[in-house]
Amino acid sequence: MPNQHGPSGSLRPRIARNEGHRCDVPNCTRQREGVSRQCTTHRKRWRRLGHPEARRLYPKDYAQERRDVAALFKANPEHAGLLSALAFIREWLDASARGDTTQPGCIHLARLHRRAVTPMAILSEVSAVWWHVARYAKPDDDRLTFAMVCSMLALAPRDYIKSYHFKSGERRVYRDAGRVDRSAMGEHLRERLAPLFVRVVQACEERERMAAAQEAAERAAIVIPKPRKKRKAT
Ligand SMILES: [Zn+2]
Repeated sequence: MPNQHGPSGSLRPRIARNEGHRCDVPNCTRQREGVSRQCTTHRKRWRRLGHPEARRLYPKDYAQERRDVAALFKANPEHAGLLSALAFIREWLDASARGDTTQPGCIHLARLHRRAVTPMAILSEVSAVWWHVARYAKPDDDRLTFAMVCSMLALAPRDYIKSYHFKSGERRVYRDAGRVDRSAMGEHLRERLAPLFVRVVQACEERERMAAAQEAAERAAIVIPKPRKKRKAT
């Protein structure tokens, strides 16, 4: 007899056996969850961040890269690559807002649209994440892909789908993007914007080199002129 409130009978022994094992992540001592090979924490990271050992990247982590990207975009307002990237994001937002479910992460892009998140805000955020990751870390592709999506989704408050009222207050259940949606959104970004990201990284690196050269020049030893001879007193 099917059971609506839990795994069916045939799955239960498998789960029980699996949950007796340790999580696959090295040095993690927790037990596996359900039929997954990881514990709850690492499973969640794999789903949201693309890798069981990925760390969430917060805006404060890439604040410098955001400033770099903002300066770059400000200096190139008419750049063809920038304009076409913005048009691409605008179309993605608009189509999602119209309910076009063929758009990757349609429901989440529609939320950003409703919250008046601009294409420029999205482009700046994902470019800053890309530049930050290129600068400091070399994670596998999935982590970078998911990091961009995480930062994009966090640009506006999430919607809640249910709320429970207790004496102690309200508890809300938020709609979250699953792994499939996150992966699709990330691939969509990369597919279309990778050439621009590469240019952004080149430009930001060049700017850093220029700043370093300038600083080195300013710090260079100062040539000491010959001491002046004292004039004889007359
Ligand atoms: Zn674990």
